Amino acid sequence: MTSAISSQPDAIRVTGLHKSFGSHEVLKGVSLTAKVGDVVAIIGGSGSGKSTMLRCINFLETPSGGQIEVAGEQVKMKPDGSPADRKQLERIRQSLGMVFQNFNLWTHKTVLENLIEVPVHVLKVPKDEAVARARKLLDRVGLAAKEDAYPAFMSGGQQQRAAIARALAIDPKAMLFDEPTSALDPELVGEVLQVIKGLADEGRTMILVTHEMRFARDVASHVIYLHNGVIEEEGPPEMLFGAPKSERLKQFLKTVG
Ligand code: ADP
Ligand code: MG
Repeated sequence: MTSAISSQPDAIRVTGLHKSFGSHEVLKGVSLTAKVGDVVAIIGGSGSGKSTMLRCINFLETPSGGQIEVAGEQVKMKPDGSPADRKQLERIRQSLGMVFQNFNLWTHKTVLENLIEVPVHVLKVPKDEAVARARKLLDRVGLAAKEDAYPAFMSGGQQQRAAIARALAIDPKAMLFDEPTSALDPELVGEVLQVIKGLADEGRTMILVTHEMRFARDVASHVIYLHNGVIEEEGPPEMLFGAPKSERLKQFLKTVG
């Protein structure tokens, strides 16, 4: 189950990732591998570079250096880190399902329309197929009755479950979650974590930035503690949470635990 003993192929491989905003170096050479079926959890304080790292993986941010491989395919980059092959980039982006902190559903579309938008208009899936698939996914996340609802009329937990279903609708090779529960009222966190846990249990590959330490301990196969753009410590959850070595990590776990 842990990446160390998994013989699965790599789903995502990041090597020596650097990212600067102007003179501010936010990522200072970060490497990680998620094999197929792995759940890699990224933890760390605010401003440590967690979101930037996820955003670099699907090129929502342009890396300043390093390499990114998705399903064995290396993203072609120019010397400045920007993507060299737009078509390849599109394909790779469409193989990663991203879930953001603030749901980011299209507010002027119903839930069903949110789910079929990319499959129909970008991936050219026949509409009836896309709708059938969307309905299955909505059923999975407990929103079968909400397909005609507009996001504004749903709770945060429902919106985030819809956003997860939308990310699944492109049939991604891996899911990227950026603090999917941190914008939610406490009583709505559980229903979203339960959906994510279900995906982990069925073997979905994911990279999950979270501040839910108990959840990370429960679902992750590998945990990375990021501090100031550097991996300060990483390992299986039992080690990282049970026997942290770094003083910084020990302090961090005290403040969040
Ligand atoms: P985290 O997700 O761990 O809280 P972020 O990756 O969001 O951290 O941010 C890391 C650092 O990068 C912060 O200092 C933040 O201000 C800076 N940063 C993030 N995005 C940008 C941006 N688009 N422009 C300038 N600075 C940014
Ligand atoms: Mg963040």
